[in-house]
Amino acid sequence: MNQTETVTKYLFLVPLEKKGSHEAPVIHMRKIAFGYSTRCNVKCAHCVAADPDHVPARMALAKAKDLIEQMAGAGVSGVSFTAGEPLLYMDDILELIGTCRKFALYSRLVSNSFWAGSAEEASAVVMQMKAAGLSQLRLSYSRWHQQNIKRDNVLNAAKSCEAAGLDYFISFVTDFTKEDDGYEDFLRKNGLRFFPEPMIYSGRATDFERLPLRTDFQENRCAMNPYVDPNLDMYACCDAGSHFKRTNFFHLGNLNSSSVEELFCKTENSVLYNAIRNVGISTIASFAGFRTRDIVGYRKCELCEKLFNSPDNLELLQQGAEGGLAAWHR
Ligand code: SF4
Ligand code: SF4
Repeated sequence: MNQTETVTKYLFLVPLEKKGSHEAPVIHMRKIAFGYSTRCNVKCAHCVAADPDHVPARMALAKAKDLIEQMAGAGVSGVSFTAGEPLLYMDDILELIGTCRKFALYSRLVSNSFWAGSAEEASAVVMQMKAAGLSQLRLSYSRWHQQNIKRDNVLNAAKSCEAAGLDYFISFVTDFTKEDDGYEDFLRKNGLRFFPEPMIYSGRATDFERLPLRTDFQENRCAMNPYVDPNLDMYACCDAGSHFKRTNFFHLGNLNSSSVEELFCKTENSVLYNAIRNVGISTIASFAGFRTRDIVGYRKCELCEKLFNSPDNLELLQQGAEGGLAAWHR
């Protein structure tokens, strides 16, 4: 039986009662991953941000400032500068960080540390970002990043943050193989604050070989931070989901023709998006008829893609969303 047939079968078997009124309303914290530019100075082999037909783009600075003001007006509380390498446009980004501070928004910046070749260089950049009002720096690190950027750059950047009192953490992208042990040891030996990030097999990493996986039956709920790209297209997911081109399931609209408020409401009011946040991808897959033994063999974004980047599965899930999925809870 193929997956579509399985979905069809189960959508007609689900119970139809509505959720109980005792459940608390969901409160959404509005945050945005802000893609001012998708240009990068390196070409990491695993980059999730780059499709094969990737053409770098950049927002107009005045538009970006205006957008941040609109975001603040729509109740957004945090902006994360991401996409390509934000600090290729250092002066612009400092202005945008300043705009966040003006409107009391939490600001985070994701960087590959190319600018931290020495302790002095790192300190100069960190001091400027702190003076502009940056709340937190997130440093990318992995055996793929470090083919392009020396790992001492990441160390310099992190130590400069510690010295300057700027909050930071290192995002350690890993595929959980032994090859990463030395990279993890480096972080531990230097006492750096890091969090492991599972590799996402999307973008340039789509065809990477992957180890078979067996986990517990995890819910795989996903917070789904929205993402706006330099063309002002806004997506409900800032990771692999923004590349689900077969269905464009996570595309919310374009900010040239819709307001920030409209597009946030769209992501907050969608039954399927809320199911991803609240019941999790594994439960949706189970509801859709995926065998439990198969579900535990998928990574979260892979399973998400199976469900939502398949036109057939998506159509059937959309049909079943109101009547069945909304009631599919313990
Ligand atoms: S992973 Fe980050 S640093 Fe590497 S190419 Fe992509 S955007 Fe640039
Ligand atoms: S699980 Fe789905 S919604 Fe969550 S990050 Fe992956 S692709 Fe995006």
